[in-house]
Amino acid sequence: MEKSHPTGYLHPITQTIREAVSIWNDLGFEVAEGPEIESEYYNFDALNIPADHPARDLWDTFWLKPIKDRKLLRTHTSPVQIRFMEKHKNNLPIRIIVPGKTFRHEATDATHEAQFFQMEGLAVGKGITLANMKSVLITFFKKLYGPNAEVRFRPSFFPFTEPSVEIDVSCFKCLGKDAHCPLCKGTGWIEVMGGGMVNPKVLLNVGIDSKKYTGFAFGFGLDRLVMLKYGVDDIRSLYSGDLRLWQPL
Ligand SMILES: [Zn+2]
Repeated sequence: MEKSHPTGYLHPITQTIREAVSIWNDLGFEVAEGPEIESEYYNFDALNIPADHPARDLWDTFWLKPIKDRKLLRTHTSPVQIRFMEKHKNNLPIRIIVPGKTFRHEATDATHEAQFFQMEGLAVGKGITLANMKSVLITFFKKLYGPNAEVRFRPSFFPFTEPSVEIDVSCFKCLGKDAHCPLCKGTGWIEVMGGGMVNPKVLLNVGIDSKKYTGFAFGFGLDRLVMLKYGVDDIRSLYSGDLRLWQPL
């Protein structure tokens, strides 16, 4: 008798990247990519995070040897924004979505891994405001989580955006109706990303006139989105070959 083999499936991270990218493509955003080994300039300085800035401590960094070359494993996908703006500054407006692998030098536990995925978006052009960002994010989450999804902004701080916001999406599991919901802890909201208006200093760094042009940028951890969507409670399962994840989802 012939032995049958189980069918293979795409990893949930790959599925989520493809689903998200297809939504952003429909919204007019094109995919941009960049190197995982970055220079200190693109990863930090160009994004308005100079060496003496306290915010730099937030990014625990894998530095590559020899240290004097100041090369590192990128700690976020934001350097791609700089590279893309440098290349296309004379061809505005731009709208990009950047999915990619990122790295942090930190101890691993159920919610932290040394390697994880981010996705971020950037739009630069004339007359772009926070309202535009809110509009595309609402559209994105409605397509991802269903027509009831809502988005809320809370004030925050990031060196590369001003003003900056934390972005919450309404809980797609309980719609705010379950006081004991494990996803939103009964608040009805899930913290999913950060963003804001591109800091004029960042535009200046790439040679874009911030008096003429404005832009918004946002970024989120894809792993967290995958964990929320599929009920995965330990990020390490995503990278350990846990076969329970390779089910039809
Ligand atoms: Zn909930």
